[in-house]
Amino acid sequence: MRIPFIAGNWKMNLSVDEAINFLNTINGKLPDPKVTETCIAASPLFLESMLEHNTNSPLIIAAENCFYEDEGAYTGETSPKALAEMGVTHVIIGHSERRKYFNETDDIINKKVHAAFRNHLTPIICCDETMSRRQSADRISWVVSQVTNALKSVTAQQAKNIILAYEPSWAIGSGKTASTDEAEEGCYLIRQTIADLYSDDIANQVRVLYGGSVNDDNADDILAQTDIDGVLAGGASLKPDSFLKLANFLQ
Ligand code: 13P
Repeated sequence: MRIPFIAGNWKMNLSVDEAINFLNTINGKLPDPKVTETCIAASPLFLESMLEHNTNSPLIIAAENCFYEDEGAYTGETSPKALAEMGVTHVIIGHSERRKYFNETDDIINKKVHAAFRNHLTPIICCDETMSRRQSADRISWVVSQVTNALKSVTAQQAKNIILAYEPSWAIGSGKTASTDEAEEGCYLIRQTIADLYSDDIANQVRVLYGGSVNDDNADDILAQTDIDGVLAGGASLKPDSFLKLANFLQ
């Protein structure tokens, strides 16, 4: 039985004050984490204050990214070790915006996945799909290869704990969400890849999320799909009301 996972990715939005107001507004209104886990990924600048304000809440506070080394001369990077020391437990890795604007390759993403495990952080690994890839003959192999490359040398024991997200960039921030069939197909493909790499048992334990223009109007149908265990919402996670609606859909 997979516990649904409803996550928001704030990206480079909000201020620290707005982040704290958000936490105060949703306080006491989130589902029981045994029923639905909830998570917000925020800028590293906000994480310490957010963790301080989040002591009596089931909300998981995640980082949006981390570097693949724990420490050293890497100006401006975010140490996964420091994130773990602060009390962060989850980190998004390989978001399409990191791939697109910061040239993150599958190899870099794989190193970041290992850095997350080394520091006991749960990686939320994103798989992209551009529109040109979607329309090309190799679209399936492109999604499969992102999962396979991200998980190179990841053990079965580690793989059980990962969270994956099918986040086609053609649907991100575009208001053009994937249809439920398209979202389900992407998540199914990711789960099948896990089954091929590890086992059916592990594929059945791993949670796969859909992200791309999710909102409180379309989440119901998306969350009803067999292979979709939750959502990774951008815009719809910025307002407490809409995040709460997403978080409480499965109550
Ligand atoms: P939107 O929900 O704004 O399309 O963003 C999705 C996303 O990129 C979440 O990581």
